[in-house]
Amino acid sequence: MKWVDFHCHVDLYDDPRSILASCAQSGVAVFAVSTIPAAADRLKSLVSASGAVVHIGVGLHPEVAHKHQKSLELLLNEVRAYRFVGEVGLDGSPQYREYQATQRRVLEGVFSACEKEGGKILSLHSRRAVRPVLDMLAQHPDAGIPVLHWFSGSPHELAEASMSGCWFSVGLGMLQTATGREVVASMPRNRVLTETDGPFAQAGGKSLTPLDIERSVGALAKVWNVPPELAREMVWSNYEALIAKS
Ligand code: MN
Repeated sequence: MKWVDFHCHVDLYDDPRSILASCAQSGVAVFAVSTIPAAADRLKSLVSASGAVVHIGVGLHPEVAHKHQKSLELLLNEVRAYRFVGEVGLDGSPQYREYQATQRRVLEGVFSACEKEGGKILSLHSRRAVRPVLDMLAQHPDAGIPVLHWFSGSPHELAEASMSGCWFSVGLGMLQTATGREVVASMPRNRVLTETDGPFAQAGGKSLTPLDIERSVGALAKVWNVPPELAREMVWSNYEALIAKS
């Protein structure tokens, strides 16, 4: 393996099997997040035959949490069986604001369940909700290793997240804006991973796939001002260090 896509919704592609086969062939290790807990089980059967290195996360995406409240119990049960948890988090965008209480209840439950088990790695969504996500993490310091995906907080919030031990996964969406690049430049380099967030995240009107991870690495290399090959190696060794941690 060579490349890391640490946040991808593998099950949501039209043909996840072929995506996984090409991951195996191209050496892309993937953190396959799920938007609802049932997706994690579906992923299991897809992944086992593929030969790809895939870390399946069980999760409940904050954008759909209010539609799947009945899944919360399943989620909290399943968290025990998975070392990787995600996608979970909070979304403070106007269209989800009315579901804040539900989102918080889900995340609170997940953090508590993770604390009980220990050793978890979490992919966290925090769009327009960095402050409350950091506050909740502070209340659950033993929930596991938080990886903030597509982080969009202020420099002050970034400093706080870094100090509290958060990791970061960054993709083209962040790396294509000047503000995003500034944020990425301030992240501790030994805690940065690459992601695509495909198929939701797109470039040129096309959904990104894990095979596009080279583009994230290339854009990250520019921010770091290092050759792409060195950036790839740095991300890979970060990934290995993270996996060895928990
Ligand atoms: Mn996502």
